[in-house]
Amino acid sequence: MNKIQKIKSKFATIPAVHKILNMPEVKQLISVKGHLMVTKAIKLVQSEFRDVIKSSNKNFTDQKIIDNFIPQLKNRIADITKEKFKPVLNLTGTVLHTNLGRASLPSEAIKSISLIASNPSNLEYNLVTGKRGDRDQHIEEKLCSLIGAEASTVVNNNAAALVLILNSLAKRKEVLVSRGELIEIGGSFRLPDILTSAGCKLREVGTTNRTYINDYEEAFGPRTGLVLKAYTSNYKINGFTAEVKEKDIIEFTTRSNIPFIIDLGSGSLIDLRKLNLPKERSPAQVLSKGVDLITFSGDKLLGGPQCGIIAGRKDLISIIKKNPLSRAFRCDKMTIAAFTALLKIYEEPERAINEIPTLRLLKRTQKQIHEIAERVYPEVKSHLSTIAIVEITKCKSKVGSGSLPVEILLSAGLKILPKIKMRKSGIFLNDLSLELRKLPVPIISRIQDGAILLDLRCLEDEKLFIKQIKKLSVQGFKK
Ligand SMILES: *Cc1c(COP(=O)(O)O)cnc(C)c1O
Repeated sequence: MNKIQKIKSKFATIPAVHKILNMPEVKQLISVKGHLMVTKAIKLVQSEFRDVIKSSNKNFTDQKIIDNFIPQLKNRIADITKEKFKPVLNLTGTVLHTNLGRASLPSEAIKSISLIASNPSNLEYNLVTGKRGDRDQHIEEKLCSLIGAEASTVVNNNAAALVLILNSLAKRKEVLVSRGELIEIGGSFRLPDILTSAGCKLREVGTTNRTYINDYEEAFGPRTGLVLKAYTSNYKINGFTAEVKEKDIIEFTTRSNIPFIIDLGSGSLIDLRKLNLPKERSPAQVLSKGVDLITFSGDKLLGGPQCGIIAGRKDLISIIKKNPLSRAFRCDKMTIAAFTALLKIYEEPERAINEIPTLRLLKRTQKQIHEIAERVYPEVKSHLSTIAIVEITKCKSKVGSGSLPVEILLSAGLKILPKIKMRKSGIFLNDLSLELRKLPVPIISRIQDGAILLDLRCLEDEKLFIKQIKKLSVQGFKK
């Protein structure tokens, strides 16, 4: 027998699916978890046994395999059915972390979701006429009065908002975009790709660092559909640059009778200086200059549910709403419930700063965060004392999600360094951050300057954090 034949003959000791399915204990499992789930798990365990046989010279007896099969099968089923989508503690220092779900919702929004989700509602029903209504009816008036727009509509996210606008107003036409604004927002959002998928042709104008109004005028022709400008908030072009003034673009698009659209990315409904952040133009200010439409995300600086807001000219919004794609991109009732509750909070700006978690966290000062660090420090230090040195440190957090440039938020946190100058401190840091992620409520940290950094800007539940830290196993690190 050659080696392959030998392995194959050992594989034959792994019981077949039908044989396992007939075992009384497995029949019991099927009655609870269902046939498909159990069969899938059996196949996984079989392949695990094959891997063990391949990589070891051990001879398994039939009985040994049978004895191990059922416990392993139960483990696999438990893995498959385990709750995998769960809350985490975001100590990365990035307040609006796209991978961690961006904005957390205010409690009023949660209440509203729960009420609407558990009952029939007038989602698309006009209670006066008793006829079909429009789901935008719950949002449009409030939103328009907050940002001074003629009309507005809300869709699944900002990317959908852009595709919808482009497809409604410039399908098979050219869209003029400055070369300095052909942005990627991380992950899957690249402006040129969005344009193409909306059925538009990208017409780049100017250069990466300099664009003039003449560039737009020269690119303009019978095939021009609209001008699009995107706020390039996650990077900055410095040095020898020239950006066309919006006022000049508005003058040009009005004269040429084409719409001017601005993708704000993040739009705030309060004056950011109240959060000690640099002033940004608000959606209201941008619209008041005469821009035809703006778009922004609901779950960035706004601090609400994932959605994309389109606001501006009424005639354009009504064309957009007639596009069949708007049916495909519409928000669900839970989003609308959360968004209406959010807008209600914004009617009182002072309330907004305290009740909307995103704003509350952004407003925290370094001193306040330092105090949190001082409160949690003793427990963290004592739990990790055998393996690490823990220090209170100053650091910088980010707004995140392409909202506002560079690191500008002064923050504080805990720095965790390996105790002994281990040669493999990189491995220590990776292992420890993995252990932090494996906790029942995972702690997401960042590694910076040879240490694990827990930026405490976003820590609100200190008790929960301490409870997790105490569950961290330090055994594997003692060497
Ligand atoms: C974030 C962002 C987008 C994408 O918004 P989503 O709501 O994530 O779809 C588009 N444009 C800009 C400028 C952004 O900052």
